Amino acid sequence: MIARQTFMFIICFSLISLWACYNENIKEEKHVEVLPPEGVTIIMQPFDDLSPILVDSIYKRLININPSITVLEPIPLPVSAYYSLRNRYRADSLINFLWQRSTTKSVVIGLTSKDISTKKGNIKDWGVIGLAYCPGHSCVVSTYRLSKNNIESQFFKIVIHELGHTQGLPHCQKSSTCLMNDYEGGNKTDELQDFCQFCKAHLERKGLEFKITDHSSLQQSHPSCFSNTR
Ligand SMILES: [Zn+2]
Ligand SMILES: [Zn+2]
Repeated sequence: MIARQTFMFIICFSLISLWACYNENIKEEKHVEVLPPEGVTIIMQPFDDLSPILVDSIYKRLININPSITVLEPIPLPVSAYYSLRNRYRADSLINFLWQRSTTKSVVIGLTSKDISTKKGNIKDWGVIGLAYCPGHSCVVSTYRLSKNNIESQFFKIVIHELGHTQGLPHCQKSSTCLMNDYEGGNKTDELQDFCQFCKAHLERKGLEFKITDHSSLQQSHPSCFSNTR
């Protein structure tokens, strides 16, 4: 448990510092040792507050870009992660909880509609849309701060952004449209189209076949914006 806590968190803030990254300590792509892909199983762990329609939507989009996915039965959010002062759940507690459901060849992603939060600098409790170990075996995403008009597309983008962090990807500075972009104070969700060639190459070395060929799954149908509450 303690060893897990030594991993640096990648924190994706939904507001001013959306998708800000705690850990940028990754080797440049040209220095990363090339290893044969071993394949990664994505384990989806929906919490029982989330609509099954959204769970199904994420599954159908993910299965197109990664062949190995397991969907677990919905479970309640752990009481131990509840932060009563703000009526929301601590994302750092959730990814610790989810890690326990992973294996050495899998990553577990928790999905919820509830508001989630974590520590950001001196701020004790900051609302976020996602949180992941980087690298690690778990992450969590929330629909709470997404546009209701375009929720499936935005949710999917956040899902694969967080999964990218679990594979060791930091926020991307190679391309302004890469899905691993840091929002840096704005909402660029709808500008992000795909992983850039550098992030794709990194994921492929990790055995994640995030080769997005159907861009319709990423396109929005309506203009949207995030809610602005903390
Ligand atoms: Zn991020
Ligand atoms: Zn990139």
